[in-house]
Amino acid sequence: MRTALYPGSFDPITYGHLDVLKRAKRLFDELIVAVVENPRKTSLFTAEERRELVAASLVEEGVCGVRVVTYSGLLIECARELGAVAVVRGLRATSDFDYEFQFALTNRDLASDIETVFLMTAGQYSFLSSSLVKEIGQYGGDVAKFVPACVAKALAAKFGTKRRSKGAR
Ligand code: ADP
Repeated sequence: MRTALYPGSFDPITYGHLDVLKRAKRLFDELIVAVVENPRKTSLFTAEERRELVAASLVEEGVCGVRVVTYSGLLIECARELGAVAVVRGLRATSDFDYEFQFALTNRDLASDIETVFLMTAGQYSFLSSSLVKEIGQYGGDVAKFVPACVAKALAAKFGTKRRSKGAR
């Protein structure tokens, strides 16, 4: 049984992430999504909210059999604990390459038995990022093309709440 881990912030999950996830699912017997809890990185959604949004998006997209966990600490230890033989990362335009190259080589130094596998997203998602989606959502724009409905709803709720509390000041 070959298990792969797909780690990321997923703040929030987009159709780009889902595209990579579906491609990875075809290649491995088991796929586990690991939502990173990083106290040094500020995120819009909490790790638990992000985990729930990944799970809800999978249901919405009709993708079965993918586990979703949160993790903090060394990715490679998480991969070991879960019995993963590979770490999946998505590649968009060239902007991802430098960081991903460094990340993969560092992880290889730490665990030479765990391979990093890069998958290219579909062209239509190659400029899509969680940051872009948050920016559009913040100004009340339509994010339906970029994220599943459950995520669009969560973004509206988050920014609605923020706008209300700002207005109240
Ligand atoms: P991280 O903070 O670890 O970069 P992200 O949630 O931003 O976490 O991304 C997780 C993984 O998904 C990364 O490998 C990233 O390159 C990839 N990814 C993000 N958006 C897309 C997209 N639109 N298409 C393909 N891969 C993507």
